Amino acid sequence: MIIVSGPSGAGKGTLIRRVQAVFPFVRTATSATTRPMRPGEQDGREYHFLTDDEFLLHVGHGDFLEHVTYAGNRYGTLREEVERHIRDGDSVILEIELRGARALRDALPDAVSIFVEPPSMDELIRRLRARDTEAEADIQARLAESLVELGARQEFNYQIRNDDLDSAAAEMARIVDAVTRSV
Ligand code: 5GP
Repeated sequence: MIIVSGPSGAGKGTLIRRVQAVFPFVRTATSATTRPMRPGEQDGREYHFLTDDEFLLHVGHGDFLEHVTYAGNRYGTLREEVERHIRDGDSVILEIELRGARALRDALPDAVSIFVEPPSMDELIRRLRARDTEAEADIQARLAESLVELGARQEFNYQIRNDDLDSAAAEMARIVDAVTRSV
C-alpha cells in the first residue's frame, strides 16, 4: 500500500491522477467524509458523502481502517474499499492527512509513504484561495493543519516538492513503479 499525505492544496490528488494515467492498476480507495460536497463533486466518486450519524454507524461497525476529524469534518478510509482492490490484485494508493497516515503506518509497517509539499507557504495559501471552494474559516483551519503536517514531513519515506507538476508527477511515478515492482 502507498500512502500519500501532505497539506491540503499541495496537489496530492492531481499527482495521483497523473500517476494513475500511467499505471492504471494503481487504484484509489474512495474515502467517506461528512464535509459538504463541493461543486463538481459526485457522491461515490470523490468521496462517499455521509451524515454524521451515518459516519458514526460505520465507526461502530468497525468499517474504517482509520478515521479522523480534520478541519471540523470527519474523514475515514473504508476497509472494504481497500480490500476490494487487493482482492482484484491491484495496488492501492491512499490520499490521507497526517494522523490517518500515522495510524496506517503503525498498522501496516510495509506501507510506503510519500509526503507532497507545496513550494512555499505563500503558494499553498494562494492555491487554497484560488480553489475558491472553502469559506475563509475552513481555509484558516486547513492552514493550521498544514503547519503541523509540514513539521512531520521527515516521517515519510519520500518527500516530493510539487513545484513543477510534470516533474513532481514523474517523481511520484518513479516511486510507485519501484514499489509496485518489488511486491
Ligand atoms: P478535502 O476536504 O480537501 O477533500 O480533504 C481534506 C484532507 O483530508 C486532505 O488532506 C485529504 O487527503 C484528507 N483525507 C481524505 N480522505 C481521508 C481519509 O479517508 N482519511 C484521512 N485520515 N484523511 C483523509
